Amino acid sequence: MKAIICKKPGIFEEIEQEDPVPSKGETIVKIKKIGICGTDYHAFKGQQPFFTYPRILGHELAAEVVDSNEVFTSGQAVAPIPYLHCKRCKTCLAGKPNCCPKIKTMGVHVDGGMREFTSIPNSNLVRADGLTDEQIATVECLAIGAHAVRRSQISKGQWAAVVGTGPIGIGTLHFARLSGAKTIAIDINEERLLHCKEVLGVDHCINALQNPIDALKDLTNGDLADVVYEATGAPVAMENSFNYVGHGGKLVLVSIVKGKISFEDPLFHSREMTVMSSRNATHEDFNNVMNALREQKIDISPFVTHRCQFDELTSLFEKWSNPDSKVIKGIVSF
Ligand SMILES: [Zn+2]
Ligand SMILES: [Zn+2]
Repeated sequence: MKAIICKKPGIFEEIEQEDPVPSKGETIVKIKKIGICGTDYHAFKGQQPFFTYPRILGHELAAEVVDSNEVFTSGQAVAPIPYLHCKRCKTCLAGKPNCCPKIKTMGVHVDGGMREFTSIPNSNLVRADGLTDEQIATVECLAIGAHAVRRSQISKGQWAAVVGTGPIGIGTLHFARLSGAKTIAIDINEERLLHCKEVLGVDHCINALQNPIDALKDLTNGDLADVVYEATGAPVAMENSFNYVGHGGKLVLVSIVKGKISFEDPLFHSREMTVMSSRNATHEDFNNVMNALREQKIDISPFVTHRCQFDELTSLFEKWSNPDSKVIKGIVSF
């Protein structure tokens, strides 16, 4: 079977691999589509600190079951959850496999889906009936935002501010809207803010370069946001996000940076702020995303901006990774 392997930073190679053999508790799937995300671009450029090479990338997958087994039938559409958890530790048993200490993410810690077939544990496959392959390939990315919003327990009518309007921020804005919150997008990129306002129907947009705290106060009657979701991956933006949280509010750090971030303790303390991280997503989040897609509560047509065939990927990848290409989500087809 065909596969694309990232041999070392900057080098992709198309290779031939043995087809996977079925093992107990796993299902062989055919990969139909692969969504490309920031993690893949960073890995290719050698900017992923915990990455080892060679590695087959790809963790945003649409797949189809190859052979029927006790759980799945041949031809069934599935969304693979790429976080392989241990199933045995205290965290997994407590229903939080998304942050299992032994987690191995496909396409990051172990080989991912840039290949024709792969074998995936049954417990990591979610039935995806009624969705197009392209929709299925966006589920993992959208589930990151769905998880962050679910974790924050935001309620109807509250102010949700999302900092950073890349694919993760967009997913977060969708689920904040679906939970009935009033949405505010914060970014430094005017073009992306315009997209949020005109295409995604976000209630308000704020340019972070133009007194964002004052702008937030103006919108919220001086109260600031009930929940701030941070999705930039930029340390300065993460630190600034503390200023956007109102008294008694929450800050959810969806993005991650290598190293430390700091905040003013009196500000954090006087507001009795809750700061939480949000890592990956769970089966429940995957189902929530798929239901939202089935019920047409989320339209992915403005989200998927670029497409290519598997054989074109190595030549297009670098171009897609360049912000000038204005890729929101690129999707590769087999
Ligand atoms: Zn991703
Ligand atoms: Zn575990």
